[in-house]
Amino acid sequence: MNARARLPSLGIRRQRLLEQQAALVALMRSDVFNRENVQQALQSVTETAARLLRIERVSLWRYSESRSSIRCIDLYERSLDRHSAGGELEERLYPAYFAALGQSEAIVADDPRNDPRTSEFTAAYLTPLDITAMLDIPVHLHGRLKGVLCHEQVGKPVPWTAEDRMFGIAVANLISLALEQHDRRRVEQALRESEQRLATMLAYAPDAIVVLDVVSGRFVEANERAVRMYGLDRESLLKIGPVEMSPERQPDGRLSSEAARENLAEALAGGAPVFEWMHMNAAGTLIPCEVRLVRLPHCEGGLIRGSINDISERKRLEAERERLNSRFRLLLDSAGPGIYGIDTHGRCTFINPSGEALIGYAADEVLGRDMHALVHHSREDGSHYPQAECPIFRAFATGQPCRMEGEVLWRRDGSSFPSEYAAYPIVNGGVIEGAVVTFSDISERRRAQVELRQVKEAAEAASRAKSEFLASMSHELRTPLNSVLGYAQLLRRQEGLLSGQAKALAVIQQSGEHLLGLIDEILDMAKIETGTLDVIAEPFHLHRLLETIAAIMRTRAEAKGLAFAGAEPMQLPAMVSGDERRLRQVLMNLLDNAIKYTVSGAVAMQAEMHAGRIRFIVEDTGIGIEPEHLSEIFSLFHQVRDPAVMVEGTGLGLAISKRLTGLMGGDLKVASAPGAGSRFWFELDLPAVPLPPTAAHRSTVIGVEGERRRVLIADDEERGRGLLRDLLTPLGFTVHESADGEEAVRDAVRLKPDAILMDIRMPRLNGIEAARRIRALPELERTVIIAISASAFESDRQHCVDAGVHHFLPKPFRQDKLLGLLCEQLQLTPIYAPDEMSAHEAPLAPLTVPPVGRLRALRDLAARGDIKNLQHQMTQLEALDDVYSPFVAQLRLRTAAYQMKELRRWLRTLEVTAHERPTR
Ligand code: ADP
Repeated sequence: MNARARLPSLGIRRQRLLEQQAALVALMRSDVFNRENVQQALQSVTETAARLLRIERVSLWRYSESRSSIRCIDLYERSLDRHSAGGELEERLYPAYFAALGQSEAIVADDPRNDPRTSEFTAAYLTPLDITAMLDIPVHLHGRLKGVLCHEQVGKPVPWTAEDRMFGIAVANLISLALEQHDRRRVEQALRESEQRLATMLAYAPDAIVVLDVVSGRFVEANERAVRMYGLDRESLLKIGPVEMSPERQPDGRLSSEAARENLAEALAGGAPVFEWMHMNAAGTLIPCEVRLVRLPHCEGGLIRGSINDISERKRLEAERERLNSRFRLLLDSAGPGIYGIDTHGRCTFINPSGEALIGYAADEVLGRDMHALVHHSREDGSHYPQAECPIFRAFATGQPCRMEGEVLWRRDGSSFPSEYAAYPIVNGGVIEGAVVTFSDISERRRAQVELRQVKEAAEAASRAKSEFLASMSHELRTPLNSVLGYAQLLRRQEGLLSGQAKALAVIQQSGEHLLGLIDEILDMAKIETGTLDVIAEPFHLHRLLETIAAIMRTRAEAKGLAFAGAEPMQLPAMVSGDERRLRQVLMNLLDNAIKYTVSGAVAMQAEMHAGRIRFIVEDTGIGIEPEHLSEIFSLFHQVRDPAVMVEGTGLGLAISKRLTGLMGGDLKVASAPGAGSRFWFELDLPAVPLPPTAAHRSTVIGVEGERRRVLIADDEERGRGLLRDLLTPLGFTVHESADGEEAVRDAVRLKPDAILMDIRMPRLNGIEAARRIRALPELERTVIIAISASAFESDRQHCVDAGVHHFLPKPFRQDKLLGLLCEQLQLTPIYAPDEMSAHEAPLAPLTVPPVGRLRALRDLAARGDIKNLQHQMTQLEALDDVYSPFVAQLRLRTAAYQMKELRRWLRTLEVTAHERPTR
């Protein structure tokens, strides 16, 4: 479809020429070229050309930047009325064509396939698109080849006319014009924008910006910021230069004018100096600044742009940082322990002087070095200490601080010291950046610890030695005392003693018991010191205990002219479970003090039920205690003494009593005022237990019923064995003796005794071990073992029980108790002496007293100490009437104990009471 089928006639050609000219004028007149969008303008050009020349294709191509190819920026295909773009032709593929473009005003190719300028396109372009004629016109811009306008006929060609060619050239020129206009507009636009940007940048620049004329030394331009910084209005500022706005000299001492000249010269020479400068504003305030100078290009005479940054704040921060740094440094420097920092690789980042001194390295010798390798490389025994095992490095992994004591750190000279160190991770924004390690030398502390341990060990050894000494002393003292007391008891059992003998035996027994009391008190003190004081709960007769104590204390009080009131125990249970010995000790002690510290008046002991417990009270009308001393009197060896009052004492009593009541579950308390007397009290849980059968109350066993029982006595002390033998044989026991533990085991196996009385301390094999071995023998399973020991330590009792011993009797023991135990364990029926009542029981039995005259006679005998006649009177009374038996028993008890004073007092009381009510 080719509209140019034939070469048109002249008339038509004229006609067309007119049309073309009109179109060109229209194009030029239209605002196509004034449009913003150059693409649209070009499209209307290609479209107009295709229409007027009646050809199929008109395209416009543009040279690439490198000029090695042309690119289609618009192709109009008339039959399709379509615009497209994008094809590219490279010069290296079509060299002839490109050469022709450069040389001619127009390539007019009526037969392009055979035209040497265009034949290169044949295969790839002309033939496939059926292009049969080409009219290509170069487009110039600013005198340079910029592109090409291509007209192409498709199908049967019509030769190009001179008008066609002229028209093409005119269109190409039009395009040049359009492009040129477009370019100019673009450049202008860019320039405007750039100026605007620059102005904005200057106005809003954070820096003060000035332009300086080097020749006049004045500012020729200044932005808003500069105006504000200098504190002058713009006009005034532009009349002066930087030297006027500076102090005479810069901080480094140079004259400002000189320093400014040097810097400007450097900028003029093409440098870009950056320097700190002290400016001064209109108010005279100094402003530290950082200045950058650069020469403005293309400026005659030399204009220099200066950008000025106020660095007051930076300077202030720097000064502050410096101050903090030096503070921090000071802190580090004056810190006692060594402190160093490490990064995550373990390299030293700082170390304080204490640290330097401790490890013997100077800071610059350790900075940047691996601290573990330097000071922590080996353990105390010299073996390698791998870094992976070092707790400081574990602190990195866990982020947790670590603390370590006792590891050694190594000095520069190869020596080491025991250390204590702690590592704290340095965490910045959640990231571990290193650690701070504080460390110190603990040699001194260790030495002190070792010394302390030695002192403690020595003290413990001394305390052990003391305990052992006390134990053996107690043993040594009690063993002979056992014999003394034992034989005294044994002898007193005998009938028909002469009064002198009875008196002597009583004295022996009393003295022995006194000695025993002393030994016990000393031991108690030792036990309090070693914390081994124990109490045991066993059934005991509370009434009897209180009576006995009252009897003894009354005598003492009256001897001092004091009235004494004993406890009324009738409201209390008779038999209770508790530690009789300790309770007696406490009460005796309190009463002893009460009598000791009372000059006139009375001393009283009370016992009463109080909220389910038994409250014991000891009261006096004595000197009392100063309030400030009340809390001290319970301390060991504490004595509060009025120098005017001379009393004896050890200062142990209350301390022991306090501990004992504590151990028994009570609390010893005191209320006292100077001159108003004192009141001590405590409460104990003493559960009531049933009264044992009356037979048990009777103490003197004279034999046992039934077959003879075999008893083995194991004791290395000949005298100890002898006493037991003398006690048991007359009662009908068959007695065997072993002199040590080993012999005891052998004899036990051989003799199969019913009971073994085992001493604890024996050579070769001690009693506890012997008991343990015997207990392990099945054939001796029924044998009763009773331990009898002079050891006063309660722990022995526990050991005995653990070894399988049935009972533990401390030496010296009461014979009645041993016999009672043997009978109970071997299920024997004891035979008691005919009428003898237990001496202790006497106060409890209903007492029938003889007539007053008889009582007075008895009191006279007591006053004379005539024991013989007293005993005679007793026998007579018993013969007279059985009802006098309890009275006689009491009388006998007091006579036997040689308590003549007490006997007289008792008889007098009975006389008084006898006067008040009728008697038989
Ligand atoms: P001492 O052997 O000196 O009596 P204690 O431990 O028994 O030692 O008593 C400590 C101190 O308490 C005594 O020295 C005494 O000053 C004071 N004290 C104890 N009991 C009484 C009391 N009943 N009246 C006044 N002071 C007492």
